Amino acid sequence: MLQPDLEALDREPLARLQLERLRHTLARVRDNPAWRARLGDVAPDDLGRLEDWRGLPFLTKDALRDAYPFGLACGAAEGYRRVHMSSGTTGNPILNPYTAADVAQWGEVMARCYAAAGVTRDDVVQITPSFGLFTGGFGFHYGAERLGAMIVPVGAGRTLLQLKLMRDLGVTVLPAIATYPLRLIEVAREEGFDLTSLRLRVAILGSEMWSDELRATIDRALALTSYDIMGMTETGGPGLGIDCPARAGLHVWEDHYYVEIVDPSTGAVRPDGVDGELVVSTLTRQGLPLVRYRTHDLTRVVARTRCDCGRTMLRVDRLRGRTDDMVIYKGVNFYPRQVEALLLRTDGLGPEYQIVLDADGGSERMTLVAETAPGGDAAAAARLRRELHDLLSLSPEIRLCPPGTIERAPGKAVRVVDRRPKA
Ligand code: ZN
Repeated sequence: MLQPDLEALDREPLARLQLERLRHTLARVRDNPAWRARLGDVAPDDLGRLEDWRGLPFLTKDALRDAYPFGLACGAAEGYRRVHMSSGTTGNPILNPYTAADVAQWGEVMARCYAAAGVTRDDVVQITPSFGLFTGGFGFHYGAERLGAMIVPVGAGRTLLQLKLMRDLGVTVLPAIATYPLRLIEVAREEGFDLTSLRLRVAILGSEMWSDELRATIDRALALTSYDIMGMTETGGPGLGIDCPARAGLHVWEDHYYVEIVDPSTGAVRPDGVDGELVVSTLTRQGLPLVRYRTHDLTRVVARTRCDCGRTMLRVDRLRGRTDDMVIYKGVNFYPRQVEALLLRTDGLGPEYQIVLDADGGSERMTLVAETAPGGDAAAAARLRRELHDLLSLSPEIRLCPPGTIERAPGKAVRVVDRRPKA
């Protein structure tokens, strides 16, 4: 552990620390009239216990977009040093301005994530997410710097160069967007690059939903252990939490973030163990503090007991999907990750796929385009059709194509192409 006095703090002092910091967050945001208008008269001293936080209104993505650029920012007194942006698809982007303390906070939680993944200063870390407005590259950079590890800051793309540097510099740690390792594996195959010449032992992956089956595929092909990291631009980038060698859920750094799981339709807080939408409040962020931010990510609290790794910080399940990723087709709800899991369990198929939804003369049509694995057979389609029907109640047209056919997006993979008219 990087900071055992905090990461393994007993629950009771941790709760006291959270309450004190939530009061600080409330005091900070109340200096901004836009926040005061949102929150009404509630004062920090009105919070007698953690549960009182539930009385505050939610903060939505739309509210953050509407506040573009800095309407809900709270760090003017300290001064801003940096801005990052989330890649929204519609309307204004969401900006997160960082103070110097925010940049330091980010480095701290990211260093903890590396340490949870067993990374030390003796490791060589090749950073493959992009450096820029996207938070990935810099977050991994600050964390590795704080740890004292050697950094190879390549950023996104140039996959063959990435492989060559990994081999020649003895790179041991691979931070990446979750599907990027598939690209590394594929380019290695195309170019005759010997993956056994690599010394990778740890991958830290996030920013996309990725199934347990995809995880097993990556771990096996690259002969490493992957760790699942969470976080988003609004919370200050990756570093909200990560899983540990116990693989028993993702630890959330609760001295920096207060998380709740709520019913996505009513907003009521759900008990531990029950799925719902992740809501995040920040305890230490200055530039853009969050009060009950609705992330749209679906998960559940797995445990608040001490983990086998020694940490006491609560664990949430690997993210299952996003409320806005859910596909509704002919009355059936499903998440792309469920389809991915079935594909990877079907012999003869590769991990790349796309779900295409069309509407023709009033009736909906779903096509699942999937790549065969090298040496895969056409009979895989029949096996997949049966599984999709039995497990997800879906009967799409299945189109198999050779490896490399589906276009590879430069950042996050495009898994759903919905051409149906918007209701
Ligand atoms: Zn653990």
